[in-house]
Amino acid sequence: MIIGVPKESYPGERRVALVPAVLPTLTKAGFEVHIQSGAGIEAGYPDSQYSEKGAKIVADRTAVFAVADILAQVLCYGANDITGKQDVPLYRRDQILVGFLRPFGAPDVAQEISRTGVTAFSVELMPRTTRAQSMDALSSMATVAGYKAVLVAADSHPRIFPMLTTAAGTVTPARVFVIGCGVAGLQAIATARRLGAVISAYDVRPAAKEQVQSLGGRFIELPIEAKDAQDARGYARAQDEDFYRRQRELLGKTVQENDVVITTAVIPGKKAPILVTEEMVKGMAPGSVIVDLAAERGGNCDITEAGKTVVKHGVTVIGPINPASGVPYHASMMYARNITSFLTHLIKDQKLNLNLEDEIVRETLVARGGEIVNARVREFFTLPALAK
Ligand code: NAD
Repeated sequence: MIIGVPKESYPGERRVALVPAVLPTLTKAGFEVHIQSGAGIEAGYPDSQYSEKGAKIVADRTAVFAVADILAQVLCYGANDITGKQDVPLYRRDQILVGFLRPFGAPDVAQEISRTGVTAFSVELMPRTTRAQSMDALSSMATVAGYKAVLVAADSHPRIFPMLTTAAGTVTPARVFVIGCGVAGLQAIATARRLGAVISAYDVRPAAKEQVQSLGGRFIELPIEAKDAQDARGYARAQDEDFYRRQRELLGKTVQENDVVITTAVIPGKKAPILVTEEMVKGMAPGSVIVDLAAERGGNCDITEAGKTVVKHGVTVIGPINPASGVPYHASMMYARNITSFLTHLIKDQKLNLNLEDEIVRETLVARGGEIVNARVREFFTLPALAK
């Protein structure tokens, strides 16, 4: 089977779906890789490194789509809502598509993809289980995003992060507050700690407390309890507006005591809750920085504008889009390992093994044979359930 890797086309995207290091594993499993010329260059992987590992370099994007049995992309149409639509006429019936598809994004986009007849797998839907851990691209990208958020914050902040004792006096360490301690939040805590900041952190899931403490952060406990804070998959459950209002009231003081706030609080398939209001921002010290990793999902801060840096009340509010793309070498490496692990699980002896008893297959398969076949996606868009 031929895996085709087109160059990513989302504006500013620097990642690539496969890196040269995974090619021996794929070749051993019987795959051939055809990659568009220049696809890896912005991530630090020139064509020569791919061809040395046996990949075929293809000059033209259309030719990659035409030859591929499997298309490996980072941002497929759906997740790529700017240029992704141009790929739709290139899809072929029964061609396998693997990548970020943003399956809960827009029903018409999901339908448009499914109507082409592609067999589409969305990496966002990978189950959060030990068995699927090596295929979990969402966690890989969240890890990179959490790391990058701290560097962006440190770069925008007028203070030094670590404590310094110098002949010119002592510099006190920066105080960083992380809201939302999932994969990205925990990596932000670890990174800010490495830079010498003093960390506090909060999450609605009580299970996060121990993880924050093990990274040397202070866990902020609020005197409110979320109803069923965590679902069976480990994600936070949405709370009512009254809960979020109480959260904002109680978080205000902590936000204002910190120099940097990094927010990552999201609920799958929902708009991110507002946890930092403009009033709270007004109370922060001039020069403070907020990096809102929930920006693409509506943002955790009132002031956030996705893809922009806004300075208001003396506070810099950064709403990064696609932050993992800002560290493309390692983001691509991690993504490529996830995809390789997924493809070698999915395809045995060069045959697609569509075993729907396997939750890895069942949960990630979005479209097949012209229809949206994923139960969660159908339910989300209130489409009638498919007959078994
Ligand atoms: P996420 O990106 O869905 O959300 C980020 C964080 O925001 C979560 O920790 C969530 O609890 C928090 N949050 C949501 N609403 C909030 C609010 N109102 N106030 C404060 N915090 C709020 O989360 P994620 O990074 O995908 O991780 C979700 C869970 O899945 C975590 O428990 C993580 O450890 C777990 N996980 C497990 C595996 C695995 O077992 N293989 C892999 C990845 C993640």
